[in-house]
Amino acid sequence: MSKKERNLSSQQTLHAFIQASPLPLMIIGNNGRVKMWNPASERVFGWKSNEVIGKVLPIVPINKRKESFTYISQTQKGKVLRGIEAVRVKKDGSSIDIALWTAPLGEKKQKEQDILVIIDNITQRKRAENQQVFLIKTNEILSSSLDYKKTLSRITKLIVPNLADWASVEMLDSKGTLRQLAIAHTNPKKIILAKKLRREYPTNLADPEGIAKVIRTGKAACYPEITDKMLRQSAKTKKQFLLWKKIGFTSAMIVPLQVRGKTLGVINFVSAESGKRFTTSDFLFVEEIAKRAALFVENARLYQEVRIELEQRKRFEEELKKSRDQLEIIFKSVADGITVQDPSGKIIYANDAAAYAIGFHSPEALMRSPVTSIMKNFTVKDEKGNPFPSDRLPGRRALKGELRPEELICYTSLLTGEENWSITKARPVFDERGNVLYAINVFHDITERKKLEERKDDFISIASHELKTPITSVKAFTQILQKRFIKAGDEESGRYLSKMDTQLNKLTNLIRDLLDINKIQTGRLAFHKEIFYFDSLLDEIIEDFQRMTKHTIIKKGNCHLRIDADRDRLSQVIINLLSNAIKYSPQADKIFIYGEKKNGKLLFSVKDFGIGIPKEHYKKIFGRFFRGVDSKKETFPGLGVGLYISSEIIKRHNGKIWVESREGEGSTFYFSIPIVS
Ligand code: ADP
Repeated sequence: MSKKERNLSSQQTLHAFIQASPLPLMIIGNNGRVKMWNPASERVFGWKSNEVIGKVLPIVPINKRKESFTYISQTQKGKVLRGIEAVRVKKDGSSIDIALWTAPLGEKKQKEQDILVIIDNITQRKRAENQQVFLIKTNEILSSSLDYKKTLSRITKLIVPNLADWASVEMLDSKGTLRQLAIAHTNPKKIILAKKLRREYPTNLADPEGIAKVIRTGKAACYPEITDKMLRQSAKTKKQFLLWKKIGFTSAMIVPLQVRGKTLGVINFVSAESGKRFTTSDFLFVEEIAKRAALFVENARLYQEVRIELEQRKRFEEELKKSRDQLEIIFKSVADGITVQDPSGKIIYANDAAAYAIGFHSPEALMRSPVTSIMKNFTVKDEKGNPFPSDRLPGRRALKGELRPEELICYTSLLTGEENWSITKARPVFDERGNVLYAINVFHDITERKKLEERKDDFISIASHELKTPITSVKAFTQILQKRFIKAGDEESGRYLSKMDTQLNKLTNLIRDLLDINKIQTGRLAFHKEIFYFDSLLDEIIEDFQRMTKHTIIKKGNCHLRIDADRDRLSQVIINLLSNAIKYSPQADKIFIYGEKKNGKLLFSVKDFGIGIPKEHYKKIFGRFFRGVDSKKETFPGLGVGLYISSEIIKRHNGKIWVESREGEGSTFYFSIPIVS
């Protein structure tokens, strides 16, 4: 075979090889013109062989031509290029990523020899690589801050230009209004246009297509190719269409930001100047990005909420501490002892006054001691000196839910023997379910007052005692004189002496009352009980009274009942009730007395038609020294002790005493005591 023949046959072989190659292959001549273009190139780039043969570097973007000529001349000089990565354009204007190999076809290094170019379409791989890098960067951004507005803005800046020519994030606010949180554009001037578009044509959530539909359905939308026709159809006005055209839309994707089925907003991806068309792969990829972004937004929002809550709690705690400190200062400076008990009875707070009163050197020392051991240091008694039952202590009662327990208590220290009188009040504090959280105890020390009262009582007692003897002898001499005058027929002097005797009786009663009070106070009021008919006593008293008063005393009912009582003491009660009835009904002329057997007891009452008693005084009038009327006025003289003594006497007869009254109309005093059957 001649050399020429050999050459021909190798050219034919090369030609056949190029035609059959599954890879795009081309032969480029000296000045960059295409000399051969195989079917694989037709498939990848879209141009038919006859459309490119003789053309200069048709697949090379204008700005990359210089670089391509360098590759050609290097190859002509004998250099073989392997796997150079570059961007090339297709007939439809879109671009693809390729890797290229070149080899000279001549035998020697010559400037004008043809070169073979082998191309591998690496668009898919490149995209995958880009997506990988993009994902890594996205993750970096998402994990770098918890400020979600800033982060979303950084993400849009990453999207542009890597994935799209412009991108924006729109989020629904708490009122359900769509707000643009971030926008980025390859061409910053177009941001102004995009903002104008948004301002003039805001998204209406009722729109059938676009963002509104994505928000409504929660499903992403992809528009691979946006044509003028589509824009015209969707535009509300011609102006909107022109604005869209100016911004330029080639392809678009709207992806929802969704967490647990809830749509928070959308990310818009738009391709414009680059002419890029979004593919299924892009679509799947941006959905992944949106998923991560949505999760981040949710977490960031939760974080924000938690942070706000923590801040609020901190502020609240600071305020609480402040008010607790203020309260502490107040509690420290009050003279009353204050303690707080938890439901188990343990003292969880005590102020200085409480601690010192119980013999501790500090509130802390008091709080460290169990209540049982604190109570062992004391005996507790009531006003009359009886032991105070511990379950009646106000704190215990408040812990059981009683609202305002209050007692007068005397605490005697077993260590020092010192007596402390205090008005002890307790209040329960409830939680929202009505359970008792704490009991607050207030100990108001009245030891001084008590001592003063004791001295006063002692004085009254001594004074009354001292008065008793002279009055008894005056009374005895009065009676002797009275007898003498009557005997001598001096009626008038006899009458005067009789009046004197009546007044002396009053004085004696008064002194007896004062002495009785002291006896009640000290538990020395003695009783001498005997069995007798109640009416025998009552009739005597009525007879005496009737002589002295203008009121008619009318007795009704049946008082012929046997009782076991102290005759003198019971007559003291009846006299007191009758005297009051007369004293407090100066305008009236009748008094009713009634007795009957009721429920195995004697029920006795004295009814008058006088000034009456206001309801709020019903209980108080049985208290010591209580006067419902103004003591300084002359009208109703008295000491406010009669009913106190009466109620004590009735109690000691296992009976009850009470009043019913109407102001201005009169009062009825009742007592009931057991009868002997
Ligand atoms: P005193 O009559 O000396 O004030 P008491 O202990 O007998 O003391 O009575 C206490 C108060 O009860 C009186 O001050 C008066 O306000 C009221 N009171 C008692 N009896 C009557 C009555 N029959 N009518 C109206 N008020 C009365």
